[in-house]
Amino acid sequence: MRSLHWRLLPAELPRWSQPCRACGHRELAPTTRFRVNSNRASHDVWLLYECVRCGAPSKRSLLRRVREHGPSLARYRANDADAAALWALQLGRGARVPWQVVGPLSEGPGDFHVHIEQPYPCRVRADQLIARTLGCSRSRVRSAWGSGVVPIEPKSAPRDIVPATSEWALRVDEEGRLTVPVPGRS
Ligand SMILES: [Zn+2]
Repeated sequence: MRSLHWRLLPAELPRWSQPCRACGHRELAPTTRFRVNSNRASHDVWLLYECVRCGAPSKRSLLRRVREHGPSLARYRANDADAAALWALQLGRGARVPWQVVGPLSEGPGDFHVHIEQPYPCRVRADQLIARTLGCSRSRVRSAWGSGVVPIEPKSAPRDIVPATSEWALRVDEEGRLTVPVPGRS
């Protein structure tokens, strides 16, 4: 069985609905930059956003008066892009996150072992993920569940949210579509 590696990634991070101080436009996009202000042992941390119309920066408060502990403040001082994306997703929770799958999606007909890695939570349902990635309907995914689509680890249902890492067996036909078993035949 051939192996594929899919990375499920946000196509865009949630925006902040807050009036821009320069132009008043209410749509600010997250950057990968932090601001850390220190007063003796006490530290404040902000994530910087930019107005999507005029580019003016705005600070969004993340942590107030925290102590230096562990590696977290160092990540903010270094403008760690992973930490910025995780904060933007957490602050924008509830918003729909546009997503994309990166990686070779399928390679001709046959059985594939697919490892799906999701470094940032996109909150995508399993049937949505497979339907859009393989260009078929969600009802086709659900009817192929357990045969053409087999969740190996963890065991899951079609409407479950895809976890951070998962393993799948997918059976794909000549056109790169999921194979659905014909009723009455094994
Ligand atoms: Zn603006």
